[in-house]
Amino acid sequence: MSAQNTAIIAYGPEAIAEAARLIAAGEPVAVPTETVYGLAADATNGEAVARIYEAKGRPNFNPLIVHVRDASQAAEIALFEQQARELAERHWPGPLTLVLPLREGAPIASLVTAGLPTIAIRAPAHPAMQALLDAVGRPLAAPSANASGRISPTRARHVLASLGGRIPLIVDGGPTALGLESTIVALTGGPPRLLRPGPVDLGLALANEGRIEAPGQLGSHYAPAKPLRLDARGAGADEWLIGFGPVPGNSSLSGSGDLLEAAANLFERLHEAEASTASGIAVAPIPATGLGAAINDRLRRAAAPR
Ligand code: AMP
Ligand code: MG
Repeated sequence: MSAQNTAIIAYGPEAIAEAARLIAAGEPVAVPTETVYGLAADATNGEAVARIYEAKGRPNFNPLIVHVRDASQAAEIALFEQQARELAERHWPGPLTLVLPLREGAPIASLVTAGLPTIAIRAPAHPAMQALLDAVGRPLAAPSANASGRISPTRARHVLASLGGRIPLIVDGGPTALGLESTIVALTGGPPRLLRPGPVDLGLALANEGRIEAPGQLGSHYAPAKPLRLDARGAGADEWLIGFGPVPGNSSLSGSGDLLEAAANLFERLHEAEASTASGIAVAPIPATGLGAAINDRLRRAAAPR
């Protein structure tokens, strides 16, 4: 794709209809929120979420914020108890993200939460993102719409400069009002913990653990409890082999060697291996190109001695 292949359409019914069509087809689309421009994809579709990582060229998988229309849509995917309800009532729609326990059986792709049992959710205040959520009728995973390592975009032309040619559409809603990422608060037991300061001030000090839950840090991120061996071409004694391409294994990330499919399947395959009766996990070699870099990063972290 060259930069000309990225359409820019001013926010309005035509832009939202086209964005909703692309998202239903599994593509990521840049759309303004009141904080920064987000790169939105269907949070229930693993390959669509993998395309966010592919477009951003992000070398690692961090959990993404899921955007919903309101508290009742949030309650369909997360345990939304009194503290969460009160904060949502006061601050939604708006730039407050709540990290909540993921509801069992919620139809959220495991790549969205990076395999964690918690999920970060907010209801955005920008009419363009709200209209898109209404049109799609599904929760949307949306990190900032910039290439990995670049600053967050507050105008359509920032998105174009960073992701032009890598995404099909930018919905242009003019400059964003806040230009600062949302406040993130974890409500996962005990008192609320501030994980990222932002536009909503709840009078909380930044939690120490905020550090470990920040992008790229291992900390609480999902890692299997069994030893994991990389670059395996066959299973050793009492190992569950996760295959890829020509290495079949007990299960496979992608029989055809497709990295997008492998990224979408990664956390499910790891959970499945962990739940097996084998005492160890082995994973076939994954190429280091494209999404393979993020897959290998996650596998190396999971294999690191703890
Ligand atoms: P972004 O979507 O780029 O604004 O970044 C999302 C932020 O939310 C990152 O700092 C993540 O580490 C954080 N986050 C998302 N989900 C979770 C979660 N389940 N637990 C803790 N932090 C989370
Ligand atoms: Mg970002």
